[in-house]
Amino acid sequence: MDDDHAPVDFWTALLRGWHGRCPRCNKGRLFGSYLKMKGHCEVCDLALEPYRADDAPAYFTIFIVGHIVVPLVLLVERWGAEPPLWVHALLWLPLSVALALVLLPRIKGAVIALLWAQKVAAPKAVTGGFDPSA
Ligand SMILES: [Zn+2]
Repeated sequence: MDDDHAPVDFWTALLRGWHGRCPRCNKGRLFGSYLKMKGHCEVCDLALEPYRADDAPAYFTIFIVGHIVVPLVLLVERWGAEPPLWVHALLWLPLSVALALVLLPRIKGAVIALLWAQKVAAPKAVTGGFDPSA
């Protein structure tokens, strides 16, 4: 099956995953629902199950959202009208949640594609006997 597809470089795979597309064919979808991975690509039959992102997307999402929201909070405090805490909560909590909800599936897709591009598959014991190298 690998011979049917042109080689995919690291960044191309990463972008395909970011957009929720199969890193190999760029046509199939990675997710069946919001964050639920499909077992296989429905177009090229790439097995997606061995590529497990685990907690990495959550860590990266928290890292990125924190580096966006915290500077904004500090900017408002420093150069703004020093609003009361309830105004901060009203501004930053919804922004943080919205950013996390938007970024999480994209980052998960990018991590899965990155794992595929680097051939980092879970061992057979985790995937129920599936051998991605076969
Ligand atoms: Zn595919």
